[in-house]
Amino acid sequence: MNRKYFAAAATILAVAFAVLWIAFGLNGAQSTFSFAETNETQACEKTVYLTFDDGPSDRITPKILDILDDEGVKATFFIIGQQAERRDYIIKREAESGHTVAVHSYTHNYSDIYSSPKKLIADIDKCNALIEKITGRRSQVYRFPGGSYGLKSELISAVTDHGMRYVDWNASTRDAEWGVSGADTLYNNAVSTSANRDNVVLLSHDSTNKTSTPEATRRLIKYYKENGYSFGTF
Ligand SMILES: [Zn+2]
Repeated sequence: MNRKYFAAAATILAVAFAVLWIAFGLNGAQSTFSFAETNETQACEKTVYLTFDDGPSDRITPKILDILDDEGVKATFFIIGQQAERRDYIIKREAESGHTVAVHSYTHNYSDIYSSPKKLIADIDKCNALIEKITGRRSQVYRFPGGSYGLKSELISAVTDHGMRYVDWNASTRDAEWGVSGADTLYNNAVSTSANRDNVVLLSHDSTNKTSTPEATRRLIKYYKENGYSFGTF
């Protein structure tokens, strides 16, 4: 290799490194929520973020909204567009009550949305267009169906390059698992996975078969209040 080619190769490598640094270093650091960012003024306090995926449903979501109203706390709903099409009144109620309406998916069909970055973004945009139609504003908050864990980096960077920030979870009622568990089990799952955390992002679901989730949520809100948590939204 002569000197000219060597210099060209070195330049290409330097540019490639800079691109990677920007893509995975800077954006990577800014793509997920840091708790300091979402809750700057209460950095030393304990905060729980109640999150509900896969709704809205006629049977479960209104019950959860009633409980949140009774208890005076706010939550984040990661919605499925297909479910919301015929239930815009529930999405309206979520937004008007001060909860966050955020993007989960339009179809929730893993094999389709995860087949390419282009398909994933199209699915997000379709869900977000519906959110905008119903609430008047788009969301910049996203939760990957199944979480971001183990997904190809090209899918994750497609989302952050599209201006969305994504939220996973660090505690769960485990109400997504096979079969319907009683409220006791969901409550205990949430308490044990929240243990010793000052910032809890709790995963639950408000899809139609989650019949124990409203009661578990009512008891969990009391638990978090008694243990000194405030309630945050994304
Ligand atoms: Zn989901």
